[in-house]
Amino acid sequence: MKKAWGIMPDEWKAILAESGLRPFRADQILQALYRDWIDDWDKATTLPKDFRERLKTDFPFTRAETLEVSSSADGTEKLLLSLEDGQTVETVLIPAKGRFTQCISTQVGCAMGCVFCASGSKGLVRSLAADEIVAEYMAGRKRGDITNIVVMGMGEPFANYDETMRALKIINAGRGPNLGARHITISTCGVVPGFKRLAAEGIQFELSVSLHAPNDALRSYLMPVNRRWPIDELLAACREYTLATKRIITFEYTVVAGVNDSRACAEELAEKVRSVPMAKVNLIPLSPVSHRPDMKTPDEKTMLMFLDVLMKRGVQTMLRRSRGKDADAACGQLRLRRLGGC
Ligand code: SAH
Repeated sequence: MKKAWGIMPDEWKAILAESGLRPFRADQILQALYRDWIDDWDKATTLPKDFRERLKTDFPFTRAETLEVSSSADGTEKLLLSLEDGQTVETVLIPAKGRFTQCISTQVGCAMGCVFCASGSKGLVRSLAADEIVAEYMAGRKRGDITNIVVMGMGEPFANYDETMRALKIINAGRGPNLGARHITISTCGVVPGFKRLAAEGIQFELSVSLHAPNDALRSYLMPVNRRWPIDELLAACREYTLATKRIITFEYTVVAGVNDSRACAEELAEKVRSVPMAKVNLIPLSPVSHRPDMKTPDEKTMLMFLDVLMKRGVQTMLRRSRGKDADAACGQLRLRRLGGC
C-alpha cells in the first residue's frame, strides 16, 4: 500500500494504471492534493464516490496529528506531531521578513550522537518515510505559506537518504507543492557518501555541513561521526561536490564556550574552509541543552572575535542567532518525546 503523500506527482498515472484505475484521473488527483491541499479523499469532490473509496484503501493519507504548539516570543513555533505508530517528531516554523521557513526532521531521534545536541541524546528510534516528511510539511503549511525549508530538525538526512530525497523531490515538484530547490537546504553532519549522491541528483538544493571544529581531535570529541569520516576526507568530499555542482557549501559552526571558541580554532578553521572553493561559514552560539549543562553559550565578545578572525582571512562569515530558544525550538534543542511526557 502506498501513501498518497509519498507518491511523486509524475508517478500517479502509472500507479493508477497498476491498480487498475483510470490514469486520466491523475490530473484531478494532483489538483486535489496540491491546489486544494486536501488531507482526506472525501474532500476530493471532483472525483466520483466509488473512485474516492478506492483511493482511500489504496493510497491513504498519512496521519500526523499536531499534539502541541509551543510558541516563542520571537514568533517561532514548534509543532509536536504524532505519527501513526505513536512516535513523535518536531518541526519548527520560523517567520522572518518576507520569509516563512520550516525546519523539518528526517528521523525520530538520531544516531549521530553529537555531544551538544539534544536530538541524539537518546539515540535513534527510526527513520521517517517520505510520506511522513511530506506530512510534516503539510502540517507546517497549514500555519502559513512556507517559503523555505531547512532540513535541520531531528535526525541526519544523509543517514535516511532515499526517503529524505524522495520527500524533498515531491515538495520541489512543479506539479506538486512546487517549492524551489534553492529554497530547500539540506544539512549534514558529514556522512560522506551522501555528497556524491546529492551531486549526482542534479537538483539545486542548498547544502550545509555541520563542521563545529577545525581538527580531528576536537571534532571527534564533539561529533563521533568524525571517527568514521575524518575532517580531511569530509573536506575532500566538499571540494568534489563544489567542483561537480558549482554550488556553494555553507559550513555551520556552533560555538561552545571554552571548547571550540579560541582564536587558534578560528585561525585553523579559516585555513580549512579556504580549502573548499567559495565556501561560507555560519557561526551559531550554542543553544543550552539540559543533558549537557557543562556546555555553555559563548559571550558576544567571543563570537565577534571569531567572526573577525574568519573575515580577516577572507572567509565569508555570518553570525546567526538561533531562534525559538524559549520554546526549546532552537538548533539542537529538538528531542525525543513520548506521549505523556519524557
Ligand atoms: N544532522 C544534521 C541536521 C541537523 S541540523 C546536521 O548535523 O547537520 C541542526 C544543526 O544544529 C546542526 O548544525 C547541529 O550540529 C546544530 N546543533 C546541535 N545542537 C546544537 C546546540 N545545542 N546549539 C546550537 N546548535 C546545535
